[in-house]
Amino acid sequence: MKVTDIMKKRMSLSFEVFPPKMDKPVEPLYSVLEKLYSLDPDFISCTYGAGGTNAGRHMEICERIQKSDNRTVAISHFTCIGSTKEDIRREMQASLDLGIDHVLALRGDIPKGWESTRGDFHHASELIAYLRDVFGSRFTIAMAGAPEKHIEARSFDEDIAHLRMKQDAGADILMTQLCYDTDGFARWVEKIRAAGITLPIDAGIMPVLSKDSVIRMCLGTNGCSIPRPLAELISRHYNDTPEDFRKAGIEYTIDLTYKFMNLGISGIHFYTMNKADAVLEICEGCGLTHRK
Ligand code: FAD
Repeated sequence: MKVTDIMKKRMSLSFEVFPPKMDKPVEPLYSVLEKLYSLDPDFISCTYGAGGTNAGRHMEICERIQKSDNRTVAISHFTCIGSTKEDIRREMQASLDLGIDHVLALRGDIPKGWESTRGDFHHASELIAYLRDVFGSRFTIAMAGAPEKHIEARSFDEDIAHLRMKQDAGADILMTQLCYDTDGFARWVEKIRAAGITLPIDAGIMPVLSKDSVIRMCLGTNGCSIPRPLAELISRHYNDTPEDFRKAGIEYTIDLTYKFMNLGISGIHFYTMNKADAVLEICEGCGLTHRK
């Protein structure tokens, strides 16, 4: 089933996982997947190392998800960093051959010291247009959006215009970057709708599980803000044990998820960081169990 059809019927629930490094065992991730299946997710996506790092593992995980006895759908992340058109055509055909026909088409972060993507495409819109051109409607294509503006863009106007180009190139779903500022998110939704972006929005939620990971995720690469209530939570629990911080963070994430659910979006997508137990607690806390 196409994820876009599910989103027409109900708010979807989905998860992101990442593949283990090549020298690490894959079985722990399989246990994570089993736990996530118990929540009847509409899809599970798997990240892709820009420039093809861990590429083998990534496809292995996507195949595993796709062949989960019809329990869910796999969305394969793919970045065009360092790839020629021919590389992309081959890799995407291999994906279809495995039955994986949903892709999150990304440019990827430009590695440090590189001045460009060192591939045939410079932006995700070109990748999306190419996938449509070569594969027609065989793929359901998701694209990324940054509710607080992509860090490289000089303005919201610029970034939203580029977002519109990705829709026009043929994307079907808009998946968002982590964002803890739900008021800012709501303003961004208004702005992109005014700009003619009509795609279903799948909101990415990063569970608050440790202060270090929140600070790293927000400030390390993405330039995302830590709004006052989250800053207060971190300050109040700054010297707590990891277990106590996690407990407070899960409560916070449950409230955050409810806020997103009330923004008229089409899906909730948890960045699980391969921590299934925390995600199970959050989904139970906000009634996202036994939905089907
Ligand atoms: P683009 O859409 O190409 O945008 C990148 C920048 O270029 C933006 O500032 C945009 O405004 C600008 N731009 C776009 N088009 C043009 C144009 N025509 N002319 C000038 N400027 C333009 N990264 C990974 O490496 N692996 C993953 O698995 C992964 N998964 C992700 C999942 C989600 C849900 C999200 C939101 C992001 C993910 N990323 C991942 C991160 C992503 O690769 C980075 O945010 C990357 O820097 C931008 O990718 P993009 O597809 O948004 O690029």
